[in-house]
Amino acid sequence: MVTLTEGKLICPKCYGNGFRRVWKDADEKVMIEIDCAFCNNQGEVPITKDTLRAIKEENDEVTKKTKN
Ligand SMILES: [Zn+2]
Repeated sequence: MVTLTEGKLICPKCYGNGFRRVWKDADEKVMIEIDCAFCNNQGEVPITKDTLRAIKEENDEVTKKTKN
């Protein structure tokens, strides 16, 4: 769930952490933390048309994956 603050919203990519955890290798043994490029490590993003569109595209992607 996205939490709204004034003019900004919690980054949907990193959930406000400012970084994301990803598997370092394809064998999924080691996790590393990478900077979140979507919010530029801020953990929140300004509400703009671009931001909202990116979030919508992300949601559409998830929906597609879920259906398959
Ligand atoms: Zn982020």
